[in-house]
Amino acid sequence: MSGAGLVVVGSGPAGISAAESYRRNGGEGPVVVLSADTDLPYERPPLSKDFLRGDLDEVADGDELFLHPPEWFVERDVDLRHGKPVTEIDVEAHTVTVDGERIPYGALVLACGAGPSPLPVPGGERALLLRALADARRLRDAAADAKSAVVIGAGFIGCEAAASLAMRGLSVTLVAPDEVPQANRLGVEAGRRLLDLVTATGVRYVAGTSVTSVDESGVRLDDGVTVDCDLVLAATGVTPHSEIASAAGLNVRDSRIVVGADMRTSAADVYAAGDVAFAFNTAAGRHVAVEHWQDAVDHGDVAGAQAAGVTATWHAVPGFWSTIGDTAVKYHAWGDGYDASRVVDHDDGFTVWYEAAGKTVGVLTCNADDDYDLGEGLIADGRPAPVETTRTGT
Ligand SMILES: Cc1cc2nc3c(=O)[nH]c(=O)nc-3n(C[C@H](O)[C@H](O)[C@H](O)COP(=O)(O)OP(=O)(O)OC[C@H]3O[C@@H](n4cnc5c(N)ncnc54)[C@H](O)[C@@H]3O)c2cc1C
Repeated sequence: MSGAGLVVVGSGPAGISAAESYRRNGGEGPVVVLSADTDLPYERPPLSKDFLRGDLDEVADGDELFLHPPEWFVERDVDLRHGKPVTEIDVEAHTVTVDGERIPYGALVLACGAGPSPLPVPGGERALLLRALADARRLRDAAADAKSAVVIGAGFIGCEAAASLAMRGLSVTLVAPDEVPQANRLGVEAGRRLLDLVTATGVRYVAGTSVTSVDESGVRLDDGVTVDCDLVLAATGVTPHSEIASAAGLNVRDSRIVVGADMRTSAADVYAAGDVAFAFNTAAGRHVAVEHWQDAVDHGDVAGAQAAGVTATWHAVPGFWSTIGDTAVKYHAWGDGYDASRVVDHDDGFTVWYEAAGKTVGVLTCNADDDYDLGEGLIADGRPAPVETTRTGT
């Protein structure tokens, strides 16, 4: 790396972890983190949980919401510049452009994350979105004045947000095309158990429908029914922020920047990490797409080490925890499909095992931490699940 130092684009977990790892691994060049976000780096997971419920206040110092106090950046000599997006990368000149200014890099880490997909129906712009702290503030303020809400999309963020709004006392309708939440991704039996967790908080689930329009009175469904409500949240998935990488000629597949296990992109001295990356995992033996907090931290850790000249690779089994109502659900998986599964119910929870070609590829648990830990090892080693699975054909 030249003396121009490390430039990181993005101040989410991947970007901050890359800056931290670069320093920890002996990187001595200047470090600049450029972020479009207007806030100091913060935790995203609480935004659909404690923060939305009103159980977590915003205090910049000493509060769990923020990743680090301002001194943390000063102590590590990390120059955090936020509020303006990087608009261009010149891989030949080794520069990025922010607000018309060209900033040189010796190594560049692209940790631009992903943005929520807007609702593609008439009036869709009326629906609130949830990704940044600014979005969460808008949603929380709207919820404070609302009696009813419609949440569109029953992925983990939709389920979490619906439950949190219901726990605030709103009358909440969760609308999704699946018979049960995440039937396509996790299977019908797993989806039933997620549905139980969501409805236990008072949420009403409307299955098998899609939204055709949004207007001032609420949401219109494709069966002609209108659900009146005071606020609408669209939680219908995200699109990785790979536009500047594509424009710079980097190898991008399905909107993600393709990287090796060392997080190197197709351009010299450019790395990508986190939700925007399509990274090779050495344990999986293939590229996998992940959208989880800890995996973004792990990616950033590898990218920062590499930028400092220390060899590192990504090998961890992806995973995350979700909280729906008061219940935690934990998931380890490569996330690219399975052909057989088995649900095992416990007294106060469940485990779902997923296999592909006889190897464990996922485990979803609720109050079954031993299975969660066991599953991680089985997935890493490509061993069979501890129970017999049945073919499900996803
Ligand atoms: C409400 C919510 C709840 C979640 N809950 C969980 C959970 O419980 N568990 C879990 O594992 N995961 C959860 N996630 C997902 C997790 O937060 C993400 O996987 C993680 O934040 C990805 O990290 P990242 O650093 O790759 O991207 P991000 O956190 O999205 O950060 C990307 C950064 O890049 C910046 N940026 C984008 N484009 C540019 C540009 N052109 N120039 C400059 N800066 C740019 C953005 O402003 C942002 O700062 C949740 C996400 C949300 C939104």
